[in-house]
Amino acid sequence: MTSRSTPSPCRTLRRTLAALPALGAATALVLAPLPAAMAAPTQPAAVGHSVAAPAKTVTIAKVTRYTTTGLNLRKSATATSTRLATLPKGTKITSTQRTTGGWYRVSYAKKTGWVSGAYLSAKAPAKPKPKPKPAAKKAPAKKPAAAKTLTRYTTTALNLRKSASASSARLATLPKGTKVLSPQHTASGWYKVSYAKKTGWVSGAYLSSKAPAKPKPAPFSTCRYEGHTGTYTSTSNGVSNAQRYYTKRTAGVDVGCGTFTVPAGTPVWKVANSTKGRWKVNVGGVTKVLMRSTDLARTSPAATTNRTKISLSAFKKLPTGAIPEKYLARIGFSTGSLIGAPAVADLNALNKAFKKRFGSDLYVDLGYRTKSQQQYYYKVLGSKVAAKPGTSVHEHALSIDLPETSAYSWNSARYAWMIKNGPRYGWVHPARLNKYTASGKLNPYAEYWHFDYVGKH
Ligand SMILES: [Zn+2]
Repeated sequence: MTSRSTPSPCRTLRRTLAALPALGAATALVLAPLPAAMAAPTQPAAVGHSVAAPAKTVTIAKVTRYTTTGLNLRKSATATSTRLATLPKGTKITSTQRTTGGWYRVSYAKKTGWVSGAYLSAKAPAKPKPKPKPAAKKAPAKKPAAAKTLTRYTTTALNLRKSASASSARLATLPKGTKVLSPQHTASGWYKVSYAKKTGWVSGAYLSSKAPAKPKPAPFSTCRYEGHTGTYTSTSNGVSNAQRYYTKRTAGVDVGCGTFTVPAGTPVWKVANSTKGRWKVNVGGVTKVLMRSTDLARTSPAATTNRTKISLSAFKKLPTGAIPEKYLARIGFSTGSLIGAPAVADLNALNKAFKKRFGSDLYVDLGYRTKSQQQYYYKVLGSKVAAKPGTSVHEHALSIDLPETSAYSWNSARYAWMIKNGPRYGWVHPARLNKYTASGKLNPYAEYWHFDYVGKH
């Protein structure tokens, strides 16, 4: 089964959102998970220890290190243990514990685990060099030499001067990569060119006869999406429910490098005021994006019941990711996420039983996701990370995600309870997301937090 056809999009998306460091140019290029070959450098057997020998943990004076490649954060100090996150190359970490096998205990994106010391350096990575400033190195010749018209490209932002001298008046600045035609140049290397309806001279030291490589399609790095650095355990991402609002109608979410829409009743957490009537908000696991404050209200317009009385079978025929708002219901507890109307009564009943057992409401982190939302994730995060629009199960509005925390994980009482009692209310944990595959291997697509509504049979 390929990752494309494996319907486990919520995990991959959520994990990636969690791994996003505060954006900096140095780290932005590796936000998307690295291909397995890059992200999982072979961990060498520690010198003097067999691979199987248990390494001892020792406390050390605090050290600062920098990753020399994309480096996996593992649950335990072994290359075969669960990967918690991937640290981009050049990430600064500190550690006060290491194993005799050369693994360091570090925290990253609010996850704590182990990284191999073989890919750490005590030296900070070199900062990228600043661009050279165009400057004339030689005095211009007195007489320009006649030549045939030459095609050149600027290799940096380059000043157009009134005469063939760095000290003459600046007429304009040509952006890097500008194509110029020069009918004339001096022996000292100044080229006569026209730019923006002005004719003057540019230094040949910053011209190339080779056209610059075409820019690649915008990678994630150019998308100034401001990811959070914390563990993704909630769509609120650390913002208290006191700051929770709901969309009054279908509303646009401006992510800086694109937009997506969410339906009426979508929970949104206000982070701060922005400008011109817009707020910085967290929505659907995406943090610090912009929405118009006039689209948001303290109360949800969505019903908490199947007001339209649509049956589960009829509901399943609705367009994926584009469910009409009247067929969506608000989950009346927890975050108030949206869910398909036919599922809400059973979910409320499930929660009632859950609360009786555990003393608090089931925390439903995420329900419905629109196709438009999925398209954004797909476009920005890529096909390896996000499900193809139209194939994410959350677009069906019959799935929920519980928190990615130990309170709900594989060995928790809550997970065991959900497995045992969920089906009585029509809520099941799909087999494809089990911890182990049918053949007993660890399932790379495992998700303990995802449940689907299949109805009561
Ligand atoms: Zn899910």
